[in-house]
Amino acid sequence: MHDVIVVGARCAGATVAMLLARRGYRVLCVDQALFPKDAVSTHMLRQKGLARLRDWGLLDQLKATGCTPIHSITMSYGDARFSGFSDPIDGIAETYAPRRIVLDKLLQDAARSAGAEVREGVTVLDLVRDGDVVTGIVGRDRDGERVVEHARLVIGADGYASTVAELTGAQKYDVIPGETFTAYSYWSGLKMQSELRIGDKQAVGGWPTNDGKTLIWCVQYVDRFAPFRTDVERNFSLAFEETAPDLADLLETGERDERFYIARYPDNFYRESHGPGWALVGDAGYHKDPFTGLGISDAFTYADLLAERVHEGLTGARPLEEALADYQAQRDRSSKAMYRFTCESSRLVLPDKHVEVMRALPSSPKHTQQWFRMMAGGLSAREFFAEDNLAALLDPQVA
Ligand SMILES: Cc1cc2nc3c(=O)[nH]c(=O)nc-3n(C[C@H](O)[C@H](O)[C@H](O)COP(=O)(O)OP(=O)(O)OC[C@H]3O[C@@H](n4cnc5c(N)ncnc54)[C@H](O)[C@@H]3O)c2cc1C
Repeated sequence: MHDVIVVGARCAGATVAMLLARRGYRVLCVDQALFPKDAVSTHMLRQKGLARLRDWGLLDQLKATGCTPIHSITMSYGDARFSGFSDPIDGIAETYAPRRIVLDKLLQDAARSAGAEVREGVTVLDLVRDGDVVTGIVGRDRDGERVVEHARLVIGADGYASTVAELTGAQKYDVIPGETFTAYSYWSGLKMQSELRIGDKQAVGGWPTNDGKTLIWCVQYVDRFAPFRTDVERNFSLAFEETAPDLADLLETGERDERFYIARYPDNFYRESHGPGWALVGDAGYHKDPFTGLGISDAFTYADLLAERVHEGLTGARPLEEALADYQAQRDRSSKAMYRFTCESSRLVLPDKHVEVMRALPSSPKHTQQWFRMMAGGLSAREFFAEDNLAALLDPQVA
């Protein structure tokens, strides 16, 4: 009998397993994958996520994996172009984009060091129940053997297509359709910091990751998905030529040394994230377009919050159900404004207000820094777009 079973062992699952094991709970964390295994991702880890890693004593290990520090971002939308970076958030002055093969392993190792059992190659197929209460998992291991395990709480950290969510009937809410797809690969030999260029219903960009490689990506609307796939290399280059000719030239100075990865983005959503004997964390409970690069950082933030609430519930400080309900409410409250901003920005047709702001940013270093602080998750979109904050930027009389 375990205290907690976590399904999924990447940035949400391995993290919540580590945090609960550090509090002394008996934790089993299972994943259908055999690691190290890459994940489809563009890797951007924001300052608020890095601050969590520092708090958990893992940031120096991440830096030691050889990922390049990022301290400058250039953004453009049509004729609006500006560069800068957020001021330090939680004491963190730079960002990194570690490959998932690196980051997920680091988290799994930390969970194991804390005493959690991380079992790979186990696919969860069903839940054990006592009446309405979830009391365990039923799965299959890599040899095809049936696995049955019991726990006081089962946490689904199994991604946006969560099996635990499906089995518990957890309903989605605040769903906003995903309208784009991405293609990306890795270049060597490029000298580049972070670039994010938005064009006519498409965007291109990139940033350095591990081993001297630079991740280069483009995003387009799903209506272009089928034609794009007929000649990925050509269409990828075209996206850069149309949106950021200077970056298209830069790509010529390096060499692509991996295949292209292509993914359609699923819908954005929140999901009911708790019930009797179960909870959801990470993309399983709250998934949004990667445009603002906050999925991993939010997985850390809310794994931390969930671990705290689970601790309150399992020690009897308050009823577990009440603590889990509070977790979901707090997550939704604190993420809502950024969720809206992410969904709006990811449509690649920005609201007039955003465009007006972006055009004006080069005239105000203060607002440019705030913009990047918001992109990094250190300032809410509500605060940034507040009328009095923008008055000095947009109204020359106030300035
Ligand atoms: C193309 C793309 C680019 C992205 N770029 C960024 C970015 O730059 N920055 C950022 O912060 N976020 C980015 N994201 C989002 C980010 O990847 C997710 O928010 C993050 O991976 C969520 O972590 P998670 O642990 O919740 O789920 P996942 O990373 O999806 O992990 C879920 C795990 O659960 C396991 N699993 C699933 N079902 C079962 C089962 N039945 N039994 C056992 N195990 C199971 C899977 O094997 C997997 O290992 C991107 C996403 C995509 C698709």
